[in-house]
Amino acid sequence: MIRSGRTVIREPRSKMRYGNRMTQPYLIGMPLRIGSKIRGALLFVRFGGPEYTDDHIHIASLQAFWSSALIERKELREARAELDSVQRQMRLQDDFVSTISHELRTPLGFIKGYSTSLLRQDTTRDDETQREFLTIIDEEADRLTKLIEDMLESARLQSRALQFKFSPLRLDALIRDVATRVNTHHPNLNIEFLTEPLPPVLGDGVRISQVFENLFSNAVKYAPGSKITIRTKTQDNKVLISFADEGDGIPEDFLPFLFERFYRVPGERTVTGTGLGLYICKQIVMAHHGKIWVESMLDKGTTFFIELPANPTL
Ligand code: ADP
Repeated sequence: MIRSGRTVIREPRSKMRYGNRMTQPYLIGMPLRIGSKIRGALLFVRFGGPEYTDDHIHIASLQAFWSSALIERKELREARAELDSVQRQMRLQDDFVSTISHELRTPLGFIKGYSTSLLRQDTTRDDETQREFLTIIDEEADRLTKLIEDMLESARLQSRALQFKFSPLRLDALIRDVATRVNTHHPNLNIEFLTEPLPPVLGDGVRISQVFENLFSNAVKYAPGSKITIRTKTQDNKVLISFADEGDGIPEDFLPFLFERFYRVPGERTVTGTGLGLYICKQIVMAHHGKIWVESMLDKGTTFFIELPANPTL
């Protein structure tokens, strides 16, 4: 009956004054109508009476009305949030197409321009200039490779096609290795380690290194010249790593979207990028049952935090 949208009122078959109250239920069942559908019921039961009066039934029906309205409002809010997120994703995809065509064309333009120039037979260039041109070609080819790798990686992560190879890792050593590698490309980088020895974690060393490479590369791009401070500690059987720069920081309004695929802070167009780096970091950290988040203060800097489950028995 409730399914058909009607109120149900039941009284016990036998009303015994001194019998077991629990066997004498008085019941009101109010349908919960959400939109045009009956989606549930609100039940009131009183064991052993007294029976419900008309006033009680009226209050119960008001209660059912308000409960339905609340559920409907909550569902509308959730649907709205989902719609917003889909719309944002679509906008980001649109932006991405224009970003990516620019990002692909720029290095290709350099490579083509400088190699054509080197191949010209009507001009001769001294060794130093030739070397300079070749260095540019080399760097731009690297940039192109990184871009294509990031795009493939993000597609694989999104389709969950990426295989992880887990083994025991010492994160403190791993971060230092990444820092040494990054330092060879950016010798002036000022990195301070305030680390304590960490228990091992079970992880994919290549992928976790990729996370730190991304954070270093972002610090170089968005906080040029700033000191980078890396802290590590163990708490509650978890390993916590923070990665802080002292750059311009990120306005608070943009922080919730930073790890979304293709997201770039508006106005960031002068620095090259695709908005894939932090998305990739988040997917990798999540595949390790960890968490990554960011805190930032304007003119003070940005700190990324990574938490991973420690595994002292490894
Ligand atoms: P990309 O660098 O390719 O744009 P990411 O996903 O790595 O993509 O970063 C997303 C956005 O987050 C960047 O466009 C940038 O605006 C912002 N961001 C990331 N790291 C920092 C940082 N250390 N300081 C300031 N802004 C940052």
